[in-house]
Amino acid sequence: MRTRITLACTECKNRNYDTKKDKKLHPDRMETKKYCRFCRKHTLHKETK
Ligand SMILES: [Zn+2]
Repeated sequence: MRTRITLACTECKNRNYDTKKDKKLHPDRMETKKYCRFCRKHTLHKETK
């Protein structure tokens, strides 16, 4: 089952990405390195609710 999640930059707290994840693969809060256009670099993005 795939669930819709939002990824927020941990540095500027902007919610940059809407994506989906597999709850079986990622039962916990996901953390991904992604490009943040506000920080203008790759930062760690965390799943928010
Ligand atoms: Zn940022």
